[in-house]
Amino acid sequence: MPDALPRTGIAVDSTLLNTMRVAKETVVAIEYTLKDDQGNIIDASGERGPMEYLHGAQNIIPGLEQGVEGLVAGDTKNVLVPPQLGYGEYSEKLLQLVPLTAFGANTPQVGMRFHAETNLGMRVLTIKKIEGEEVTLDGNHELAGKTLHFDIKVVSVRAAEPTELAHGHPHQSGGCCGGGGCGSGEASGGGCCSTEEGSEGGCCSTEEPAAQKQGGCGSGGCGCS
Ligand SMILES: [Zn+2]
Repeated sequence: MPDALPRTGIAVDSTLLNTMRVAKETVVAIEYTLKDDQGNIIDASGERGPMEYLHGAQNIIPGLEQGVEGLVAGDTKNVLVPPQLGYGEYSEKLLQLVPLTAFGANTPQVGMRFHAETNLGMRVLTIKKIEGEEVTLDGNHELAGKTLHFDIKVVSVRAAEPTELAHGHPHQSGGCCGGGGCGSGEASGGGCCSTEEGSEGGCCSTEEPAAQKQGGCGSGGCGCS
């Protein structure tokens, strides 16, 4: 008997209606702070704004993706990511020696990073040591072997658009690369999100969020609109 119900002036809080959970084929925006075991801040979304990614498309490291699964907008969580679910264990096999002459006219310095074609494909290499005429290159990700402590806050969760699913990355905030959304796939070498110093014409900042997978800028990156 609906007529018997009293009519009240309840205001509906629409934020409570938006309870879509993070799952495969949702586009998720998170704010995060990443710390190491000692509590040092390694990276944070901070001024860059929330990181948006397509859940289930390997846009971000597996341990973080697992940690966000099932959350709703507004949720906060501490996510502990061991190396094997982050950037892998540190491997001595990724160290190699090259002669100083390999750098030609450039002056190598410890800590410099650059892209190079290796037998594992295009990698970011770091100059680890320079001794005499020999340079030690390190192909490990700078976060390899580290346990990662993420403090995250889910900012939004929405269903992905068909084109986003097809491309494997989100398309908001300025196209493919705007929101840190450079997607899946192999590093493209000169792709849209090069981390190389002085790269020009790229549509992305040179800053690559640490939560994203290395080489996360796919060859399908900026070709779409
Ligand atoms: Zn795209």
